[in-house]
Amino acid sequence: MLKILYIFSAAVAAVATALAQPPAHPRSVAITIDDGPAVNELKDLGNFQRIARGLLSSLEAEKVPATIFINERQLNVPGQRDGRAAVLAMWLDAGYDLANHTYSHPSANKVSVREFEDDIVRGDVIMRPLVEEHGRKMVWFRYPFLDSGTTSEVHQAIMDFLEQHHYRVAHVTVDYKDYSFAGVYSRLLRAGDAATAERVKQAYLDQIDPGFEHAEKASQEIFGYELPQILLIHCNELNSVTLRESIARMRKRGYSFVTLDEAAKDPAYARADSFAGSGGSWLERTAKVMGQQITAPSPRMPQWITDLPRPATRQ
Ligand SMILES: [Zn+2]
Repeated sequence: MLKILYIFSAAVAAVATALAQPPAHPRSVAITIDDGPAVNELKDLGNFQRIARGLLSSLEAEKVPATIFINERQLNVPGQRDGRAAVLAMWLDAGYDLANHTYSHPSANKVSVREFEDDIVRGDVIMRPLVEEHGRKMVWFRYPFLDSGTTSEVHQAIMDFLEQHHYRVAHVTVDYKDYSFAGVYSRLLRAGDAATAERVKQAYLDQIDPGFEHAEKASQEIFGYELPQILLIHCNELNSVTLRESIARMRKRGYSFVTLDEAAKDPAYARADSFAGSGGSWLERTAKVMGQQITAPSPRMPQWITDLPRPATRQ
C-alpha cells in the first residue's frame, strides 16, 4: 500500500513539474495587415477612414504591434488624396510600421518583371517621405497574392531588385484566408442582412484556432519547433470589428505579440529564398524546397458560407 502511495505521489510530482515548466519555445506572433489602408474602399472616404481607425484602435487597446502593408493606389482618389494620405500619418503617429505591398497589387506571376518593378517603385512614393519624417525607414515588402515569380530567373530578378532598393521580403506562416469571410461579410451588411453577417463573423472567429493549429503543426513538421509565427490578415471591415476578439483568441493559445522585425530574427526565416512557384506561405515554400509534404490539414471555409447565394449584379 505504501509503495503504491509512493508511486502515486511521485507521478503527481512529475506532472506538477511538467506543468510548471514553460514550453521550450514560448509562442509568439507578428501581426501583419495587407491591402492597407482599407481594401476595396475606393469611393467612400468615410468608410476608408472608419475601417483604418477600427484596426488601429483595436491594436492600440490591446497594446499589440503590427505592420501595415500599403497599396498606394488606394490613396489616389481625386478630391480625397489629402484625406487618404492622412490615414498613413495616423498609423505612423501611433507608432506602427508601414510597408510596401506595391502600388496596384499585381501578381508577379502575371506581369513582366519590368512592370512589377515599376509597381514596387510607385508603391512608396507617398509613404517613404512620411515614414522618414517620423524618423523611421522603409524595410518590408510583401508580394501581392504571395506570388514571387514562377521561374527561378524571374524570382531572382525581383529579389535582386528588392535588395538594390533595401527591401526585405516579409514572409507569412499563418493565413486563414480572412478575405474569403470578409467579402461575404461586407456584402451581407450592405444588403441589410445583419443576422447572417453576424453568423459569418462568428464563423470567421472560429477559424482562428484551426488556422494557428495548422501553422503550429506544419512548423513542427518542417522545422522541428514552432516558429515565431507571422500572421497575414487584411485591412477590411471584418477585421476592423473583430481584431480585439481575434487577439484574445491568440492570447488564449498562449501567444505573445512581437514586431515583424523580431519574428524575422528566427533562423527559420534565414534560409535563402530559392522558391519559384505559384506562391504560398513560408512553411509551404520551405517544404517544397526541402522536398517535404505538410500533412497537417488546413482549415476549410464552412460550406454554408460558400453556398450563400451571390447577389444579383447591379446595372
Ligand atoms: Zn495583398
